[in-house]
Amino acid sequence: MQKIDILSLTFEELSEQLGAMGEKTFRARQVYDWLHVKKVTDFSEMTNISAQKRAEFSEIFYINSLKIKKRLVSRIDNTVKYLYGLSDGESVETVLMEYKHANSLCISTQVGCRMGCRFCASTIAGWVRNLEPSEMLGQIYETERDSGRQVGSIVLMGIGEPLDNFDNVVKFLRILNSDGEGMSLRHLSLSTCGVVDKIYKLAEMRLGITLSVSLHAASDEKRSEIMPINKRFDLAQLMKACDDYFAATGRRISFEYSLIEGVNDTDESADELIALLGGKNCHVNLIPINEVRERDFRKSKSVEHFRSRLERAGINATVRRTLGADISAACGQLRRDERAV
Ligand code: SF4
Repeated sequence: MQKIDILSLTFEELSEQLGAMGEKTFRARQVYDWLHVKKVTDFSEMTNISAQKRAEFSEIFYINSLKIKKRLVSRIDNTVKYLYGLSDGESVETVLMEYKHANSLCISTQVGCRMGCRFCASTIAGWVRNLEPSEMLGQIYETERDSGRQVGSIVLMGIGEPLDNFDNVVKFLRILNSDGEGMSLRHLSLSTCGVVDKIYKLAEMRLGITLSVSLHAASDEKRSEIMPINKRFDLAQLMKACDDYFAATGRRISFEYSLIEGVNDTDESADELIALLGGKNCHVNLIPINEVRERDFRKSKSVEHFRSRLERAGINATVRRTLGADISAACGQLRRDERAV
């Protein structure tokens, strides 16, 4: 019999499973607490449960855990970049960043990605598989264990398109936020390249998370060139979905815009962005692009000029601070390097 991934079960699912084994309701609460509050990695650590019961549980369930394959620590600002090994030998990246108010963790949601954004290392070798909820939680739990730091906010902006792994991501969010004891989803931001039908689905759920949209170009022609998703859902459809998300949740949309020299950093591009976002309750994060070895896109030299042009037109824009500059391989590069070895 195949064992059940217990860390991927919601509280209701765990109660049902344990109920079927003849356990009373309190047992599910006890086990859930060991898994998601004390974050143990082995049934033997559940010391208020009898040895016999623990043995029974380990016959039926397993606790998924990640192995650290690589850890890069910035000497400048304490940013830590992890390459985590998964149980099938695949790997994903996770980045821990230190801000004044809290530690923030950027996690992956898929092994590889099929979205094909031209500036991104994560998609070069394509999509391999979706991550299970336990593998997303594992990135948080293992990072907290290893670093001794508590994670205060989470961004789903690592390898993969979160909305392309919709069901597992939503389940992960529900477990993270279970019974109001876990992390408030207000501290969570989900980044999408613009999977419009799933933005509507997410809005309906009213989970209260911040939606962060990777925009990177404000004309259909340019955006379709660098982001194939734009051929499926164009800018008009994307903007409508963003407006509806804001109307349904009251959460301001954050737009990510990576500045690429000569591609999307000209005055003309800034004016297109102003025309697209003018009057919207939103925020623009300008990011000097992470250069990817396999691509010929280069960092823009006009970041500040671009920002002030937006500001003068009344668009709220900030340049994202570069953290971990000494370890700042582009997202997905660490995994690619490992596969090339
Ligand atoms: S930027 Fe995000 S959505 Fe686009 S290919 Fe990379 S991981 Fe996928």
